Amino acid sequence: MHEMGLAMRIVEIALAETEKAKASRLCEVEVEVGEVAGVLREALEFCLPAAAHGTLAEQAVFTIVAVPGQGHCQACQRQVAVSAFPAQCPECGGFGVTITAGTELRLRSINVE
Ligand SMILES: [Zn+2]
Repeated sequence: MHEMGLAMRIVEIALAETEKAKASRLCEVEVEVGEVAGVLREALEFCLPAAAHGTLAEQAVFTIVAVPGQGHCQACQRQVAVSAFPAQCPECGGFGVTITAGTELRLRSINVE
């Protein structure tokens, strides 16, 4: 599963930050996932605690924040909402939509003790 690798990477980064802060426990982790990042949110929600098992992040609460997809249609020059890729413009039906938001997968914040 692709999400397991991503979850492990997120936990790794969060643990590195915990170490930097010289904290002994990771309490909360907030992750931003774009709607068009190609990541299954439910799968990631399931994988994060599994990836954290046996680490300082084991007791952490993982929160996934969804970032709505957005794009710019080259045909009609509109800012449009995007929920899938390749994106189709809901206004003119064109496929020349450049994604401008919603492809991110990143650690937004952590809370340590
Ligand atoms: Zn359009």
